[in-house]
Amino acid sequence: MSSVRCPICDAAMPGNWTEYPDYPFCSARCRTIDLGRWLDGRYAIPDPTPPDDASTPADGA
Ligand SMILES: [Zn+2]
Repeated sequence: MSSVRCPICDAAMPGNWTEYPDYPFCSARCRTIDLGRWLDGRYAIPDPTPPDDASTPADGA
């Protein structure tokens, strides 16, 4: 089997790629970094954050 490395941090990713939910990245962090780079080149966003709480209604302020 050929060894796979994370394209972001170049970390070795031994084992089956199905063990990595964020494949081809080693972790969600690297996936976010890659996404950030992609968005940065297109939208110039300095600090991209995943839409985690985008559905949170503004109530009880
Ligand atoms: Zn990585």
